[in-house]
Amino acid sequence: MKKPPLIWTNVLLFAVTFLGAIILVPWYGITYGYGFAEWFAFIVLAFASGLSITAGYHRLWSHRTYKAHWSMRFLFALGGALALQNSALHWSSDHRIHHKHVDDNDKDPYSANMGFWYSHIGWMLREYQAQRYHDYKNVRDLQNDKIVMWQHKYYLPLLLIMNFGLPALLGWLNGDVWAMLLMAGLLRLVVVHHCTFFINSLAHIWGSQPYTDKNTARDNGILAVFTYGEGYHNFHHIFENDYRNGINWWHYDPTKWLINTMAWMGLATQLRVTPQERIESAKLQMQLKRTRGRVEQLANREEALEKLHAEYELLKRHISEYYQAHKELLDAKRKQLSNQQLLQKVEQLKQDLIAHKKNWKLLTASYA
Ligand SMILES: [Zn+2]
Ligand SMILES: [Zn+2]
Repeated sequence: MKKPPLIWTNVLLFAVTFLGAIILVPWYGITYGYGFAEWFAFIVLAFASGLSITAGYHRLWSHRTYKAHWSMRFLFALGGALALQNSALHWSSDHRIHHKHVDDNDKDPYSANMGFWYSHIGWMLREYQAQRYHDYKNVRDLQNDKIVMWQHKYYLPLLLIMNFGLPALLGWLNGDVWAMLLMAGLLRLVVVHHCTFFINSLAHIWGSQPYTDKNTARDNGILAVFTYGEGYHNFHHIFENDYRNGINWWHYDPTKWLINTMAWMGLATQLRVTPQERIESAKLQMQLKRTRGRVEQLANREEALEKLHAEYELLKRHISEYYQAHKELLDAKRKQLSNQQLLQKVEQLKQDLIAHKKNWKLLTASYA
């Protein structure tokens, strides 16, 4: 099959910036050296541009997991231009298709089934899905956002100002324009490019699938460090409306922390979270599926399957009972009703649930 034509702007952009980052940046460092200011600007702009993609382009605009004050949307629009990953409108359109048709080689713009290279960068190098490049039907809601449309319209001047003007200005203030252009401009751009591209490539290849195996998305704590918290991609693909990707407090998810901080300052509202019961049920179902697969190989499989299903149903019932009571307790608290009895009930159900979880863990582990 003949390959679609190359998109030369992208080919040159990625090739030239990459070569510059691996040749020019170290050469300048060895010859003239970099100071604290350049390293500091590199880190600050890497976070500013990366987080504009994850908290802005991704969790705000693509998935609408919260609402943001115009000042934050404005900053995300500038940071997104700095990240040089196309306009928020275009990016979100691609990304919504990715979720809708995940892993479908004909429809998913960066289908992981096409391999690492394609999902990482290859999809942007040729006109693979040219027919829909200017089709923004699936982002009609975003067309009402004046900041999104402003950024889309002035994307070219914005990216030039952010990627050349800003580092040059910082360099001028610090007394070395070239050093700042190379570190906070070039190296930062290439590093953030590939770190965010990892979400489409590695986060669909490397890691675990605790919530679903219906798509290739993986949870990976190591990858989260390089992707501003987007490494919990298996969770994200099943619960895409959740403003969090790493749901536990110890999960490294700076995007979530930024949104939390914004909410605390009154700059983000209506943060959406998945009910804990649904998260636990998805996880449980996945564990059942995996264990069933192993049990079916056993000689006494009928008996073992029966036991497994009985324990599963029991645990499921306890999960639903506990969360039901928990909800009632919250309602009572909201209405300021006396809730001593309910409190005791919830505590009892919680202990029961812990015990059943333990049983389930032992049982599934015995078939591992
Ligand atoms: Zn997404
Ligand atoms: Zn994905």
